[in-house]
Amino acid sequence: MSSKRIHGGPSTQGIHAGSSPPIEGDPVVPPIVQSATFFGGWHDAALDLRYTRYGNNPNQTEVAEKMAALEGTESAVALGSGMAATAMTFLALARSGDHIVASSRIYGATTTLLKQELSRRGVSVDLVDPENPRNWRTALKANTRLLFFEAVTNPTLRAHDPRPLVRLAQECGLPLVVDSTFASPANLRPADLGVDVVIHSATKYLGGHSDLSAGVVCGSAAIIDEVRRMAILYGPALDPHAAWLLARGIRTLSVRMAQHNTNALELARWFEGRDGVKQVIYPGLSSHPDHEVAKELMRGFGGMVSVVLEGGGQAANAFCRALEIALYAPSLGGVETLVSQPRLTSHMALSDKERAEMGIDPGFVRISVGLEDLVDLQRDFSRGLEAIRD
Ligand SMILES: *Cc1c(COP(=O)(O)O)cnc(C)c1O
Repeated sequence: MSSKRIHGGPSTQGIHAGSSPPIEGDPVVPPIVQSATFFGGWHDAALDLRYTRYGNNPNQTEVAEKMAALEGTESAVALGSGMAATAMTFLALARSGDHIVASSRIYGATTTLLKQELSRRGVSVDLVDPENPRNWRTALKANTRLLFFEAVTNPTLRAHDPRPLVRLAQECGLPLVVDSTFASPANLRPADLGVDVVIHSATKYLGGHSDLSAGVVCGSAAIIDEVRRMAILYGPALDPHAAWLLARGIRTLSVRMAQHNTNALELARWFEGRDGVKQVIYPGLSSHPDHEVAKELMRGFGGMVSVVLEGGGQAANAFCRALEIALYAPSLGGVETLVSQPRLTSHMALSDKERAEMGIDPGFVRISVGLEDLVDLQRDFSRGLEAIRD
């Protein structure tokens, strides 16, 4: 491949990594290569074969190279969704008879994949409460093959210190895998801390405009080759057009994240102490249990803010209905502010008691803070708070 690894900071990497050195007359923006197959492959068949399902379409490799550069890993592969990235990673690292230890505070579909799908395929799974690092060691078995956690959890935005887990994984020679979707490489580089594999739902901050579905896995060449081998067989390829949109999103990741971080911090402070607000959850506030860890390890506290409203589910409904700028929709990481209620979406399957144990009060509203003007968001959320009082 003629593409380049370039030197420079994250903004430079996001813009330039993965594109080929130009020759006279080339377009500045790499075109969409909307082709399933490519000329050639007769000389060294297996090595050179280019095929979109193989993950080596030029738009896919541009994304992969940008992400390897941004996460500081040897290699990366871009796939059709965050779940494809997660599933192919588990399939690459664990087979029938193996065991996985994962955090219990993870994305709902990932929990179902681990507990229901992988167990049907002979992979046993133990979920541990990540609050206590000792839980991980206790859960290890002779056949444990990987450890999995989320860097910043949904929706209580916990950012547990990953370093004890890194030490444990290294001591046991196990790959440590993180889903770093909520942080994005602009705010956290898990590989710098010793995490082996970094997964993203690129549908969120990496794409950044709520207009594509994609996933990325970053890690050593050996692990990524095995993830790619699984993806070639199971087939969750990233469409070239979505890959092109994703590369476009990654070019502005660092400025978007800087503004997400600023808007979210300002908004979290604004919510604090306001009438009708019982609690504001944001790692950038000193009231957050992981504030010190986040301050030490992260370049920004992220774009997600959660608020717990007085008056439970009724208040949360009234608040969300009154909003005119923020849109009521699941998902996160786009330029537009989105609000959702975990009790009706990601944590719907749980009982009130189980949700309460996770800190999800009925009045819990999760906000993916977008890039609108802060005053407009404040006006919108004032409208929401007034609607509760009416
Ligand atoms: C959205 C999300 C996923 C799943 O990603 P898709 O692109 O929807 O498949 C996985 N993990 C986290 C933390 C997410 O937010």
